[in-house]
Amino acid sequence: MAFTKLTSTLGLLSISASLLWAHGSVKFDPKDNPERAIEFPDTAEYLTLTLDPHTHSVFSDGHVWPNIRVEEALRDGLDALAITEHLEYQPHQADIPHPDRNRSWQQASSSAKESGLLVIHGSEITRSQPVGHLNALFLSDSNALVHQPTDISPHSKEYTQAIKNWPAENALKAAGEQEAFVFLNHLDWTSQQPSGIAELTDFHLEMIDQGLIQGIEVANTHNYSEHSFAIALKHGLTVMGSSDIHGLIDWDYPPAQGAHRPVTLVLAAERTKASMHEALNAGRTAAWFNNLLIGREVNVRPIVDACISIEHVYYLPKTQILAVSIHNQSDAKFQLLNESDYTFARRGDLIELEPHQSTLIKIRTGVTLDRFELPVSVLNVLVAPKTPLRLKLSGDVEEKTDSL
Ligand code: ZN
Repeated sequence: MAFTKLTSTLGLLSISASLLWAHGSVKFDPKDNPERAIEFPDTAEYLTLTLDPHTHSVFSDGHVWPNIRVEEALRDGLDALAITEHLEYQPHQADIPHPDRNRSWQQASSSAKESGLLVIHGSEITRSQPVGHLNALFLSDSNALVHQPTDISPHSKEYTQAIKNWPAENALKAAGEQEAFVFLNHLDWTSQQPSGIAELTDFHLEMIDQGLIQGIEVANTHNYSEHSFAIALKHGLTVMGSSDIHGLIDWDYPPAQGAHRPVTLVLAAERTKASMHEALNAGRTAAWFNNLLIGREVNVRPIVDACISIEHVYYLPKTQILAVSIHNQSDAKFQLLNESDYTFARRGDLIELEPHQSTLIKIRTGVTLDRFELPVSVLNVLVAPKTPLRLKLSGDVEEKTDSL
């Protein structure tokens, strides 16, 4: 016991010392706080990686230093994070002048160096309509995406105007030259689209046509946009979810209330930035937002298949009531709606599978079966607007029931 106390004290000392010496280096093991980590199992074919592709720090209009973004990401058990500062909007410029738009990523990367978190180099291209806001990920140089006049004072209105007047098309072309992955942000944002109904502008269509935009946010902060999801499906864009956090994750998504930040689940071959980049270009993603899993069926079905498994199937003694125990090894509280003619004992047609738990359902099969099949709709998994994933639960009935 004394030894444990001593080592833990030494551990604390060395952690605080490394924090001081490494100027904000962050180490955090999600195992220390497992209940808040965002967890989805790998699919049969791919790793299921969690990415928040849209966040801010004081280097644009966020309120924290980049190392806090890294620590939040580690606490949430994320695999990857992108800090995507507005290239053209720097409200803290008088206090934090930073003509080098790569600094935020450099700061976050060095903070995360010993943690295993993948920090993706990104930036947010920021204009009013018809351009709106777009994020570019996997950049090599953010400075190439912004025009900074050398003959005007950086603190003048003219300078800010000159930056905003530079055609967004140039920024997108510069991103394209760096083979960035570019996605449309919050098209439903009422400041730019008062109806809240996401729509592509002619500019977006032109850029999609030129191959300069590959993805679209369907979930941003506290909003899910069905219209953006429909646009993603219609135009072959990758489905994205993001926090777009400016303040603190725990203030916007209190973990004590079971809240979680919106993220993008990326189905990647390896846990590397290159592999994530390939998966995003290939559209292998789903958005995880407020207990909704949103994405193309080809991507969400294998995720749900990996999450849900049938543990036991047996008849209650001397009855034709089939007991089926279903395990859910994910953060999602799945809501299954019975689509069969069977009825359930002790519940209506809605089965809720609590996260990381097993749920027992009792099916009135009428006759004794060797095998059961139960078609359901998964109400909180959307494969198109207003279209839940359909699934068939099935399993062989176990012969011996005495021990169960
Ligand atoms: Zn943003």
